[in-house]
Amino acid sequence: MDHALRRTRLGERLSELGLDALFVTRLPNVRYLTGFTGSNAQALVGTEATVFFTDGRYREQSRHEVPDAERVIYAGPVPPLAEEAAARAMTRIGFESEDVTHGSWERLRRALEGMELVPIGLQVEQLRRIKDPEEVRAIGRAQEAADAAFDSVVLGGGLREGIAERELALDLEIAMRRAGADDRAFETIAAFGEHAAEPHHHPTDRPLTRGDVVKLDFGALVDGYHSDMTRTVAFGEPAERLREIRDLVAAAQEAGIAAVHAGASAADVDLAARRVIDDAGLGKEFPHGLGHGVGLEIHEAPRLRWDVPDDLPEGAVVTVEPGVYIPGLGGVRIEDMVEVTADGCRPIPRSTKELVVL
Ligand code: ZN
Ligand code: ZN
Repeated sequence: MDHALRRTRLGERLSELGLDALFVTRLPNVRYLTGFTGSNAQALVGTEATVFFTDGRYREQSRHEVPDAERVIYAGPVPPLAEEAAARAMTRIGFESEDVTHGSWERLRRALEGMELVPIGLQVEQLRRIKDPEEVRAIGRAQEAADAAFDSVVLGGGLREGIAERELALDLEIAMRRAGADDRAFETIAAFGEHAAEPHHHPTDRPLTRGDVVKLDFGALVDGYHSDMTRTVAFGEPAERLREIRDLVAAAQEAGIAAVHAGASAADVDLAARRVIDDAGLGKEFPHGLGHGVGLEIHEAPRLRWDVPDDLPEGAVVTVEPGVYIPGLGGVRIEDMVEVTADGCRPIPRSTKELVVL
């Protein structure tokens, strides 16, 4: 990953904003800009130079991971910002205002007494929307691990009478690790029968029984990059109504995917899918946005929602995940990540979206 190039891009943005530097505190952003994977670090990214701060636990790790920035190892509660900024004549410094609590704001203000602090919102997140080819490959490898788990667990006989939701979730997570994942990307959702009516169900001891719909939302983590996929299958013949809902959700997802292209408004893409479900009279049963960006974080920009003024740049990786949830009956969600291209998009998963009956 070319971290120096990313810092150069950020530097250009800082110049436009009239800033000498940005004090980066959100860890995914620090990782994006420097390559550091530990749990405590900040970076003062200037238009000319970058200073990387971490504590003594990460002296060696940061030497390997951040070889191309000046590193400062500090011991106190806050990095020695004032000295480093003053030494580089940085006086107008941006900070990530979406990441600041009242307490950290007070400390920052004291640490940079006399300098001008400018809130800049989500600038690094904006850069992160556009994935470079290495990032797309890492996301692809994370998805391959999830596809492999779907094959071996779901299609490979792992759904059996009596298995608990939490057991099936664990089977998927183990299979992803065996397929090369570093970790799961988020807490796996395994929802059987009426539990599938909850969009974000927490797996329980509920046993699988014939006639259950099985909703699985899971992903893997590879080299810091996430994957995110939802599949809904059936254990034994599902209720006719669930088949209808599955076809409706599949049609909505197809409409959403067809609306994705570079420059498309995220709200329009959301509405393209939402209209299909609205027209069937089930708009209220689709209570979440259509999708989200995926990368160093499981949920990141751009957001695909009717109420978010965002657009889809070429190279973004976003999910398209409509769902319909009927209390007492169950629910269906189908979720795929797609890479946004100039004239459309490229779906990343290879797992079947059919309502497989097992
Ligand atoms: Zn998901
Ligand atoms: Zn998702």
